[in-house]
Amino acid sequence: MKNNNFKLGNLYIVATPIGNYNDITKRALITLNKVDYILAEDTRKIGILLKNFNIKKKLYSYYEYNEKKKIKLFLEKIQQGYNIALVSDAGTPLINDPGYRIIQLCRTQYVNIKIIPIPGPCAAILALSISGLPTNRFCYEGFLSKKKNKRIKRLHELKLENRTLIFYESTHRVLKCLYDIKKIFGKDRYIVFIKELTKKWENIYGNSISNLIRWLKLDLNRLKGEIVLVISGYKSSNNNYKISSKVIRTFLELKKELSTKKAIKITSDIFSIKKNLLYKFYIKKNTNYDSNNVE
Ligand code: SAM
Repeated sequence: MKNNNFKLGNLYIVATPIGNYNDITKRALITLNKVDYILAEDTRKIGILLKNFNIKKKLYSYYEYNEKKKIKLFLEKIQQGYNIALVSDAGTPLINDPGYRIIQLCRTQYVNIKIIPIPGPCAAILALSISGLPTNRFCYEGFLSKKKNKRIKRLHELKLENRTLIFYESTHRVLKCLYDIKKIFGKDRYIVFIKELTKKWENIYGNSISNLIRWLKLDLNRLKGEIVLVISGYKSSNNNYKISSKVIRTFLELKKELSTKKAIKITSDIFSIKKNLLYKFYIKKNTNYDSNNVE
């Protein structure tokens, strides 16, 4: 309904259920009922949800990057007084779903448009909340890259991250990713495999990475469905972290030409390891060098 009183319409960012339709909020229903248009990535999927709640609205497909012109048209519509809701296929829009560009434009160019958030489920937060891992600080990583070398690089960067880590995963790639995680984080890192939240085949299993892989391979049906991996952050009490001989050789070579500080910085950048581990190694080397610390 065109908003004649205030001239401008609003942009509503509406979260929808991630499986169980009973999780739709009252505000989401009220909003979806009152807006003029609904933007969705997959209008067919959202059409099914709307039909379930008897909501009949004009739907437009919304993609992030191939429809820049279309996004501006939607924003102009809001400026003309129309109310628009943005939804994703499931869960909270923008969380690994389209919407960033439209919000960014509202914040930078269409600053008079009001963005109204309508909260609801988000798989990452739900998974974190039931993982049993620390929730006070966490690190949301979305999907790891499909490309093995990019994935490995990112995992190396995250190896010493001490906050709880959250990844989204798909049935087809999860085993490959788990093998890479095991290789880089170590076989004993604790991980919680969470799938099909709020749905019939909901399943939650926590164990070391190697035991999780073993458990999944016992019944490949366990891989089916939508998956979140919640992984324990690196524990600094694991002070048995070893510095490889390759790292030490690189550091010592750089040290011949550069200051200790620079050599440490470059070595830690190359191998994605924490600078203070190298500092500790350097201090030990110059006091009582302990070869047990080297792999
Ligand atoms: N915007 C969504 C949200 O708020 O969670 C996420 C969209 S992202 C494209 C889809 C991924 O989210 C899936 O591949 C899966 O990793 C995760 N996901 C979505 N629904 C889920 C569910 N019911 N159970 C477990 N993971 C889910």
